[in-house]
Amino acid sequence: MRPDERHQPAPRQDVTYWCRNDHRVDIRIAADVEPPPLWDCPRCGLPAGRDAENPPGRVRAEPYKSHLAYVKERRTAEEGEALLAEALAALRRRRGE
Ligand SMILES: [Zn+2]
Repeated sequence: MRPDERHQPAPRQDVTYWCRNDHRVDIRIAADVEPPPLWDCPRCGLPAGRDAENPPGRVRAEPYKSHLAYVKERRTAEEGEALLAEALAALRRRRGE
Protein backbone atom coordinates (compact mmCIF):
# COMPACT_ATOMS: atom_id res chain seq x y z
CA MET A 1 0.00 0.00 0.00
CA ARG A 2 1.36 3.39 -1.01
CA PRO A 3 1.16 6.13 1.57
CA ASP A 4 -1.06 8.93 0.42
CA GLU A 5 1.22 11.95 0.25
CA ARG A 6 -1.61 14.39 0.76
CA HIS A 7 -2.12 13.02 4.23
CA GLN A 8 1.52 12.87 5.21
CA PRO A 9 2.15 15.24 8.08
CA ALA A 10 4.61 17.95 7.08
CA PRO A 11 7.99 17.48 8.71
CA ARG A 12 8.22 19.45 11.92
CA GLN A 13 10.89 20.66 14.25
CA ASP A 14 10.59 21.35 17.95
CA VAL A 15 12.06 24.61 19.10
CA THR A 16 12.50 25.59 22.72
CA TYR A 17 12.65 29.15 23.97
CA TRP A 18 13.37 30.55 27.42
CA CYS A 19 12.27 33.85 28.84
CA ARG A 20 14.14 35.55 31.64
CA ASN A 21 11.56 34.33 34.14
CA ASP A 22 12.80 30.80 33.38
CA HIS A 23 9.63 29.89 31.55
CA ARG A 24 10.20 27.21 28.98
CA VAL A 25 8.30 27.61 25.74
CA ASP A 26 8.14 24.68 23.35
CA ILE A 27 6.84 25.34 19.91
CA ARG A 28 6.59 23.15 16.86
CA ILE A 29 7.09 24.67 13.47
CA ALA A 30 7.60 23.42 9.95
CA ALA A 31 11.01 21.82 9.51
CA ASP A 32 11.92 23.98 6.55
CA VAL A 33 11.28 27.22 8.43
CA GLU A 34 14.08 29.07 10.16
CA PRO A 35 12.98 29.44 13.82
CA PRO A 36 12.48 33.07 14.75
CA PRO A 37 15.16 34.35 17.16
CA LEU A 38 12.52 35.48 19.62
CA TRP A 39 9.18 34.14 20.75
CA ASP A 40 6.75 35.81 23.10
CA CYS A 41 6.44 33.85 26.32
CA PRO A 42 2.76 32.87 26.64
CA ARG A 43 3.00 32.92 30.43
CA CYS A 44 4.45 36.35 31.09
CA GLY A 45 4.54 38.03 27.69
CA LEU A 46 8.27 38.68 27.77
CA PRO A 47 10.34 37.87 24.71
CA ALA A 48 11.93 34.44 24.98
CA GLY A 49 15.14 33.39 23.26
CA ARG A 50 16.76 30.14 22.19
CA ASP A 51 19.61 30.33 24.72
CA ALA A 52 18.47 29.13 28.13
CA GLU A 53 21.57 30.59 29.78
CA ASN A 54 21.12 33.98 28.25
CA PRO A 55 17.46 34.84 27.69
CA PRO A 56 16.66 38.22 26.17
CA GLY A 57 16.32 41.02 28.65
CA ARG A 58 18.78 39.63 31.16
CA VAL A 59 21.60 41.62 29.58
CA ARG A 60 20.11 44.65 31.30
CA ALA A 61 22.03 44.10 34.52
CA GLU A 62 20.79 47.39 35.94
CA PRO A 63 17.68 46.53 37.92
CA TYR A 64 14.59 48.53 37.21
CA LYS A 65 14.40 51.50 39.51
CA SER A 66 11.06 52.92 40.40
CA HIS A 67 10.47 56.62 40.63
CA LEU A 68 10.22 56.17 44.38
CA ALA A 69 13.68 54.59 44.46
CA TYR A 70 15.11 57.67 42.83
CA VAL A 71 13.19 59.85 45.23
CA LYS A 72 14.57 57.89 48.17
CA GLU A 73 18.08 58.36 46.90
CA ARG A 74 17.70 62.09 46.87
CA ARG A 75 15.64 62.48 50.01
CA THR A 76 15.25 60.94 53.41
CA ALA A 77 12.80 58.09 53.85
CA GLU A 78 10.40 60.38 55.68
CA GLU A 79 10.29 62.84 52.85
CA GLY A 80 9.83 59.98 50.45
CA GLU A 81 6.89 58.65 52.43
CA ALA A 82 5.31 62.09 52.52
CA LEU A 83 5.68 62.32 48.76
CA LEU A 84 4.17 58.86 48.37
CA ALA A 85 1.22 59.75 50.60
CA GLU A 86 0.74 62.90 48.57
CA ALA A 87 0.82 60.93 45.33
CA LEU A 88 -1.66 58.39 46.68
CA ALA A 89 -3.99 61.16 47.82
CA ALA A 90 -3.83 62.73 44.37
CA LEU A 91 -4.55 59.35 42.81
CA ARG A 92 -7.58 58.85 45.07
CA ARG A 93 -8.86 62.33 44.23
CA ARG A 94 -8.53 61.53 40.55
CA ARG A 95 -10.50 58.33 41.07
CA GLY A 96 -13.14 60.33 42.90
CA GLU A 97 -12.75 58.57 46.20
ZN1 LIG B 1 7.84 33.89 30.73
